[in-house]
Amino acid sequence: MWCAIILAGGSGSRMGAGMNKVLLPVGGVPAIIRSVRAFASLMDGLVVVSRAEDEAAIRGMLDAAGLPATVVHGGDTRQASVWNGLCALPEGCGRVLIHDGARCLVDEDTIRRAMASVEAYGTGVAAVPVVDTIKQADAEGIVMGTPDRAALRAMQTPQGFDAALIRRAHEAAQRDGCIGTDDAALVERLGVPVRLTEGSRRNLKLTTPEDIAMAEALLNETAPLPCLRVGQGYDVHRLVEGRPLILCGVTVPHKMGLLGHSDADVALHALMDAMLGAMALGDIGRHFPDTDERYRGISSMLLLKHVAGLLGEHHARVTSADVTIVAQRPKLLPYIPQMRQHVADALGLPLDRVNVKATTTERLGFEGREEGISAQAVCVVEQR
Ligand code: MG
Repeated sequence: MWCAIILAGGSGSRMGAGMNKVLLPVGGVPAIIRSVRAFASLMDGLVVVSRAEDEAAIRGMLDAAGLPATVVHGGDTRQASVWNGLCALPEGCGRVLIHDGARCLVDEDTIRRAMASVEAYGTGVAAVPVVDTIKQADAEGIVMGTPDRAALRAMQTPQGFDAALIRRAHEAAQRDGCIGTDDAALVERLGVPVRLTEGSRRNLKLTTPEDIAMAEALLNETAPLPCLRVGQGYDVHRLVEGRPLILCGVTVPHKMGLLGHSDADVALHALMDAMLGAMALGDIGRHFPDTDERYRGISSMLLLKHVAGLLGEHHARVTSADVTIVAQRPKLLPYIPQMRQHVADALGLPLDRVNVKATTTERLGFEGREEGISAQAVCVVEQR
């Protein structure tokens, strides 16, 4: 039976956050939850060692994450905290991994390598080769020596042991009044060989605020790329007398306007169809049928915001849009800045992500004969 002891007890004074660093979110998830979750599927039992003042918060986080763990109080030192964790192990736990909750990016391979070593040799402790040259120095900062880097390892966690061995090591240390900086050191004192296993450079320990930024950068690197989708839309409305001409939410002075069930904003209709198309959600005729009285005379700006909300429900948003209006008259250039602004506002986009342009057809076709106005739109949608 395998159990993990996760230490959540450090004060984290170097983090300067005024709270226990393992409670801080990393990529939106508390560090301690990331650490416990890494072990959950590999272990038969989980023990979290917490400071008394953090216990309620940690229990709440574990419950919310659906992680079953025993929470026990820590001691005055790291070593005393581990001992409390060892005392809380369930009967029948023969092998144990001890892990620092601030190493919240620990990966399954690192854990499995430590487990395999414990199963074969009784010990398995994650470590990485030292990349910096290490110097020994005196109190004045004078170099006393340069240890051979090839023989140096930086210790990480998890540190894994046969449960009986690590209990014996802690009891011996208590008896001798010895404080070790890690659990392996206590086993070394017994003269028992401690086996190192391959750790990971990503298995960093959150110590300073920069470490949180680094951990989040590493998480982003491994996060799946957003799905990019493209949609296109096309629409035509007939020009008639006695109707306002509304394009991209802007009323353009003209002797004719567009005929339609809604405000007949042909440009926004094309844009909405592009958005729906990108998401394979059909077209605006399906979402806003012209047989529905609710949509009679409605502002297409409202419909656009509704479609943007629909994309949001699918964890998607428009990241850029390009609309082309095809009209012989009137001249639309003076109104283009306002059109862009309206669309950008409705989609919550910066102005440089929205383009609106207008063209004539050199008097060719229905647009050229001023029988109607058409519009085309393309948009890119990002879905997470
Ligand atoms: Mg239409």
